[in-house]
Amino acid sequence: MSATEIDYYELLEVERGADDKTIKSSYRRLAMRYHPDKNPGCGDSEARFKQISEAYDCLKDPQKRAAYDRYGHAAFQQGMGGGGHPGGAEFGDIGDIFESIFGSAFGGGGRQQARRGADLRYDMEVSLDEAFHGKQTEITIEVSQSCEPCSGSGAEPGTGKRGCNMCGGHGKVRAQQGFFVVERTCPTCHGRGEVIEKPCRSCGGEGRVDKPQALQVEIPPGVDSGTRIRLSGKGEAGPFGAPPGDLYIFLHVKRHKVFERDGTTLLTRVPITFTTAALGGSIDIPGMDGETISVDIPAGIQSGKQLRKRGAGMPVLQGRGRGDLVIEISVETPTKLSARQKELIRELQSTETGDECPQSKGFFDRIKEAWNDLTE
Ligand SMILES: [Zn+2]
Ligand SMILES: [Zn+2]
Repeated sequence: MSATEIDYYELLEVERGADDKTIKSSYRRLAMRYHPDKNPGCGDSEARFKQISEAYDCLKDPQKRAAYDRYGHAAFQQGMGGGGHPGGAEFGDIGDIFESIFGSAFGGGGRQQARRGADLRYDMEVSLDEAFHGKQTEITIEVSQSCEPCSGSGAEPGTGKRGCNMCGGHGKVRAQQGFFVVERTCPTCHGRGEVIEKPCRSCGGEGRVDKPQALQVEIPPGVDSGTRIRLSGKGEAGPFGAPPGDLYIFLHVKRHKVFERDGTTLLTRVPITFTTAALGGSIDIPGMDGETISVDIPAGIQSGKQLRKRGAGMPVLQGRGRGDLVIEISVETPTKLSARQKELIRELQSTETGDECPQSKGFFDRIKEAWNDLTE
């Protein structure tokens, strides 16, 4: 009887029906006792340590333990083939010994889970108008998708898979490196524990192929630069039939000629004539939604002054209502004046002596009318 065939329960000094906690504490106690660090140079202790480590590695895993209870050591014999070595052990810290020495070693399930496909990023530019109204659009991306002929398995239709000889189905191999035994993913089966007999001709055995894919994208109103739209399951196909990743659409909102945006607030600069600035009035400007927005200009407004229209900004993403529109006033000083205009302004200038002229209101109105006649 080889050393590895000592009953695991006996090795760990527990009853066959012992619960996980009992097994764990017994293992810890024994591992402490036989740990090579505590017994330098003692070959027996080291061998014993490896045995109890192997026993614990099996019994702590419900699946492996069930198989061991049923088949005994025979359950592991195939699994120990290749680079795996039954007595192999890691001499890590006692506290975390063997957290993950094997994936599940055998049986149908439980080998290393195939990784899900990668998430993908797609950058999309939209106009401010599209961000305002939302948009339904279609994009075409070249993305790896599950191979149809082999249903993602990578095996040529009609052929099957067999256990990997290199790792004996573990998906992992062990190698001695000096004093240590290191474990790594099996290079032959890449951790899957099985290899395909004949690779699928369409995908070369990878189970996925790059293909252009057309996708419908719904852009809701109110999106902003930095908004991400997630298309679940539309990322890269997983290798060998594993689930796909997600596709993230990163939005970038282009600059607009008239409106600047800050969150749900829109800002626009509106030039007004200096007569309107002086006398006040009302101006009409186009809104983001194509509506006409009437803005009251108080008399005496200065350049740079900001007026606010509630509810005339951007829509709230996935919410209700709209933000505000901020109108920044810019008073235009006329550059090309006709003789008549110059005359009027001189008349105005002659009144700027500091004292409030009693007729100034009427005077300004006269100037404004005359001005408008000239400019229209
Ligand atoms: Zn393998
Ligand atoms: Zn295929």
